Amino acid sequence: MVVMTRRNEERPKARLVMKDTDLEKLRSYLLQVDRKERAAFALLGKAEMADPLELYVHRLILPDDQDYCEQSAVVVEPRPEFVLQTLADFATSRVSSFLHIHSHPFCAQASFSSIDNNYFPGMVESLRHYLIVSGKEKGFLFTTIVWGQSENGFTGRCFAPDGSLFATVEEIKVVGKHGVRLIRQFQNADEESEPLSGRFQRQVEFLGESGQRRIQRTRLVVCGVGGLGSFVVACARGLGFREITLIDPDVLEETNLNRFQGASRADIGKPKVEVVAEATKLFDPDIKVNPVCARVEAPAAREAILPAEFIINCLDDDSARIEVQILAALHLKPLLDLGAGIILEKGTRVVREMGGQAVLYFPGGPCLFCQGVDPTAIVSREIRQVQRAAGYIQGTDETPPSVVTLNAVTAGLGLQIVINYLTGFIEAPSYLNYDLLHNHSTQLNFTRRPDCPICGNAGIEGRGEEIMELPLRKSVKISLPPANITPLKETESLVSATPQESSNAPGSASTYRFLRTEMARIRTWLQKEYRAASQR
Ligand SMILES: [Zn+2]
Ligand SMILES: [Zn+2]
Repeated sequence: MVVMTRRNEERPKARLVMKDTDLEKLRSYLLQVDRKERAAFALLGKAEMADPLELYVHRLILPDDQDYCEQSAVVVEPRPEFVLQTLADFATSRVSSFLHIHSHPFCAQASFSSIDNNYFPGMVESLRHYLIVSGKEKGFLFTTIVWGQSENGFTGRCFAPDGSLFATVEEIKVVGKHGVRLIRQFQNADEESEPLSGRFQRQVEFLGESGQRRIQRTRLVVCGVGGLGSFVVACARGLGFREITLIDPDVLEETNLNRFQGASRADIGKPKVEVVAEATKLFDPDIKVNPVCARVEAPAAREAILPAEFIINCLDDDSARIEVQILAALHLKPLLDLGAGIILEKGTRVVREMGGQAVLYFPGGPCLFCQGVDPTAIVSREIRQVQRAAGYIQGTDETPPSVVTLNAVTAGLGLQIVINYLTGFIEAPSYLNYDLLHNHSTQLNFTRRPDCPICGNAGIEGRGEEIMELPLRKSVKISLPPANITPLKETESLVSATPQESSNAPGSASTYRFLRTEMARIRTWLQKEYRAASQR
């Protein structure tokens, strides 16, 4: 059994990340006008970053009213059949964290009650036993959240499989059509207000102080720092982004110089990310810039992308763009994909197409594929016709012609979309094409395809890191326990693999609520199955 342990002595923090559509669905479900307590479940992906641990809502599971065996203004208990089904969903999923969430509609800011606290060890143990007896053993985190009427009125904890407290959930990040925002436990969003540098005076008049702060708080990653990427970074540092990660494997060549912002002749032969990092430091030494000289597929690049809050692609390689789109979807990160180019009539110097395009992906919206970015994958003929009509720039095997104006225009359009998105200045278009030959732009709105493997109903959004499944034991067929089995007596000790676990087992000192309910029946049955599985 893989047991996740605490990485250090202080209590680690966890952040729950969810789509705005899921937040709305969840809050309106948990806090209904009847003011009854409700419970919900979710499958969570995770990213093991130093601090905080990020947990992504991959799939919400909301019980119907008939799925509760007990429900009032102060108590809620889903039917064991329903709980078992959610455990089964978790066992067969590729995620490693299970979320239990319930409401305290009687208060604004909710904390766990003593009843709640007594309930969790049994839930963690049931989940652990379920995974073992179903042959789907995996390391997991059991996360639980209680939510009151206020959006910031939540308390959350993550438990390791042995029942020990692993982390506390102190932030909820909400990502979607209207940008990225953070809900901090028991705090108002505008409570912290750092002073703004005088250099932003003229853009604050346009973006507002909160808009400027939102830009400054956003960690940006630019994938592909060629000519276009160098202009993107120049715009980003001017706007006030304070943490910028740069990813590119190439060195600067003489033919890049004309189109490369911030480079001089002396930089030829240096890694492009170093050249842009130096230019950024020269501009403002307080900007934290992280140059990574690697392809986006490399583990070092992946590691550098994960802490970012917004990704900009300036890549000319479709497989790299796919890689970044997948990463963005798994970890619920917005992504702007930029492309610019010139296409000549075959064998001539007649320019057929010249322009730039910006395609925005936000979690919950259509992915790049659904907006026709990858021409080889799942693009329908209709979309290709739309692209052609809009002057979509296609990749080519030959070294294409290029010019600095194209990069400058596309970077400017792109960063304007980024600030529109982050500050809510105006609604950002999801697909924008600028035709430089005829000086007109086209804006398109695509919808996500329900069967898309990235953003569709069974897609990968929020699945987080890939996990290893450990088929250590033979699978045991799981079906509902027979009705005639009797619950354990309160004093009867539970099967425990280690002394640590027995300390979390219900003892004789108090009567735990979960033993009074039908859940006890499930637990008893799971314990028997667990015993039998251990003896095989
Ligand atoms: Zn409660
Ligand atoms: Zn899609």
